Amino acid sequence: MVVYNFSAGPAMMPSEVVEQIKAELTSYKASQMSVMEISHRSDLYAQMFQEAKADLRELLAVPKTHRILFLQGGASMQFTTVPLNLAYKTKRIAFVDTGHWSQTAIADAKLLPDKEVDVIASGHENGYTALPTKIKAQKDYDYVHLTINNTIEGTMFQKLPELAGQTLVGDISSNILGYQHNVDKYGLLYASAQKNIGPAGLTLVIVKEDLLDQEQDLPSMLDYVKLIKEDSNLNTPPVFPIYAAGLVFKWLKKQGGVAQMQRQNEEKSNLLYEQLDNSKLFKATAAKADRSLTNIPFTTGDKALDERFVTEATQAGLCNLKGHALVGGMRASMYNAFPYAGAKALVEFMQKFEQQVHP
Ligand code: PLP
Repeated sequence: MVVYNFSAGPAMMPSEVVEQIKAELTSYKASQMSVMEISHRSDLYAQMFQEAKADLRELLAVPKTHRILFLQGGASMQFTTVPLNLAYKTKRIAFVDTGHWSQTAIADAKLLPDKEVDVIASGHENGYTALPTKIKAQKDYDYVHLTINNTIEGTMFQKLPELAGQTLVGDISSNILGYQHNVDKYGLLYASAQKNIGPAGLTLVIVKEDLLDQEQDLPSMLDYVKLIKEDSNLNTPPVFPIYAAGLVFKWLKKQGGVAQMQRQNEEKSNLLYEQLDNSKLFKATAAKADRSLTNIPFTTGDKALDERFVTEATQAGLCNLKGHALVGGMRASMYNAFPYAGAKALVEFMQKFEQQVHP
């Protein structure tokens, strides 16, 4: 039976990459050492890291003004690191509350004793099924934080709010490299790897260097200035996830880059949204205008029926469709490595299921 993994993360990786990892696992580049054993101070590592960084720069068209960091601690660590660095002196931060992950980022920023945190817009009133429409900043902030793709609620900023003069920070954990972000429009972008890149353990930060205070002095692992100075090699980096990410970047370049990934993600998500819009049984929960390309929550509106659907889908090889505990229902996450055939298999299964329930 073919198995399709709809997990929101850790998620599917390209099978060619997994095969390559398997083939060279015991000896990386004829070194007779596994990639898991090579030193982060070796030339082998240095070359691997520099190539991965250059490939990522090319794939995301990162301008020269921005530096790329390969860090640890997940996107969650950035909920603390970003405010410490970008609000180092003036300490005024604005958030747009679009659901669970932005709320977690807000809560962590508020724990920092000297920061002023304003929530300037919220999707609370509509249960986070749509993004807030009126996003206005009344003050000068160090930055305005946006969760660009809301993994749980299935919403996504397809257009950035007009916030002239403000620095934008974006959490792109669930659609990095799957959608063409204009890096130039952001002061900082961050994402963990385990959704659309590779194994967990690697977090990417892309930061405009002139936003940083070169005189700042923060604990080393939280200080972008020190981390940039050591080229993300201040302590032992996660060598294996960086290696795997590097292979995924090469795979992406071969596939035609981010533009091609976005087209494919549109094809997969359109197929499922069309099915949902035409169904009498299933319904997409996110507002049409704000729909995510990568995370698609849906429901029958009947808890028991949702559970039956998830159980039967799993038996048919359509795995991890259970919705997040906060939202319930189902969620199909389809990142870059997820094949069109998987979206098609889900749609056909939904049609059969609907036929059984409403013959
Ligand atoms: N931000 C978003 C949008 C996410 O989807 C997630 C995880 O699912 C996180 C942050 C937290 O990521 P991590 O588990 O890498 O800390």
